[in-house]
Amino acid sequence: MTFPREVKEFAEIVFRAGYEIYLVGGAVRNLERGLPPDDYDFTTNATPEQVTAIFKKVIPTGIEHGTVTVLFKGNSFEVTTYRMDGKYSNFRHPDSITYCTDIYEDLKRRDFTINAMAIDVRNGRVIDAHGGMEDLKHGIIRAIGNPDERFAEDGLRILRACRFAAQLEFQIEPVTLDGMIHNRDHLKNISKERIRDELLKTMSAEHPSIAFLYMQKTQILEYVLPELLEGVGMEQRDRHQFDVFHHMIYSCDFMEKDPVLRMAALLHDIGKPRCFKVRDGVNTFYGHENVGTEMAHEILRRLKFSKADETRICHLIKNHMFHYTEDWSDGAVRRFIARVGLENMSDLFKLRFADRAGAMGDKTFACTPEDIALSRRVDAIVKEVPPLKLSDLAVNGAMLKEAGIPKGPAMGTVLNYLLEAVMDDPAMNTKEALLNLGKNFYESRLQCK
Ligand code: ATP
Ligand code: MG
Repeated sequence: MTFPREVKEFAEIVFRAGYEIYLVGGAVRNLERGLPPDDYDFTTNATPEQVTAIFKKVIPTGIEHGTVTVLFKGNSFEVTTYRMDGKYSNFRHPDSITYCTDIYEDLKRRDFTINAMAIDVRNGRVIDAHGGMEDLKHGIIRAIGNPDERFAEDGLRILRACRFAAQLEFQIEPVTLDGMIHNRDHLKNISKERIRDELLKTMSAEHPSIAFLYMQKTQILEYVLPELLEGVGMEQRDRHQFDVFHHMIYSCDFMEKDPVLRMAALLHDIGKPRCFKVRDGVNTFYGHENVGTEMAHEILRRLKFSKADETRICHLIKNHMFHYTEDWSDGAVRRFIARVGLENMSDLFKLRFADRAGAMGDKTFACTPEDIALSRRVDAIVKEVPPLKLSDLAVNGAMLKEAGIPKGPAMGTVLNYLLEAVMDDPAMNTKEALLNLGKNFYESRLQCK
């Protein structure tokens, strides 16, 4: 196993100062699998103060857990002092952290065998007291020691197991899986922020659906996203291969790896089960985009997503049911762009492609000729820089007032009428034409006689 020069140099400096230091966590897993590490987490018997004394730039990033970040030759290394955790009285965080001097004690408090290996980067020696290497080789996620105890100590580990299963495409070992099922009620004690972060990390997997299938199997979705379960077994029309639940999680797989877009794909049909109605022998879900938007607002607020993410996701869900046909006029295309917003257009097409691929479980179904035709027309129309909002009009309220239209609700009605007119015919967007049109409209339709 080879390590970058700075990583070895860094460890050598700590060692020469009289301390042990090992690489742990995700970096060890990645290196063993021949992948580059995303980050370097170290563990040491030096206390945070002792680490701080060795290096010039040290930031106390997680001092309550005994973690500092060392900035070293362009890298940032997380260094955590060996710990054993105190007792877990509230099933969340240990009551106290106690530093210890033994790497084996430190590795024992970790969650899964594949996360409890340590490497001395100076000589490549691996410490693996829990069979992590063997589990890594066979693609297995196994709790260290007694799974019931592990999951009762920290319920988030149940979700972490699902997340690692998806990220690594590993299987969860049966006794560990049983432990997850028995202890799922501990998820009630986990903060929504930690659950949200775990969901967002899950979205970086190639196939997040692996995690959601485990969550369904272990009945932990009830604690995380119970609304998804409403779609289990709910069959759809013939162009769909899957029930609503599987369709949503597979759409999420087919969405590009932006965690927020993937949340939109996961939730895009969340309203379907509540809109289900059989009409003339066909399963229908009319209005599900509106019901789904309301549900998504509630879910994302509950899970403490940022307002910006909530708005972005809900806007996509609300607009995902467009049905283009070639008889759409240019005005109809402009109105579509105005409704969705130019800045959201490419996200909406990405959702459409993920939706179609997720209906069949196959990305060759992502694009239909209609979607491609609409996307081309949108591109062509955008190039004309068409008027799409009131501020794009060649007239404003002040000009219309001067032309005799009073301020107040009538003014708003006139402005919207003019916008509709220029979306149908952008050539109308001149001051003279709009003043005339506005006056005529006001006098013939709005003015009290
Ligand atoms: P990644 O960085 O890809 O999320 P990781 O394994 O490095 O994966 P971190 O959350 O960075 O995960 O944590 C680093 C290590 O700390 C883990 O490998 C594990 O040994 C330990 N750890 C983290 N969270 C927990 C937890 N809730 N319970 C027990 N050990 C944990
Ligand atoms: Mg890490």
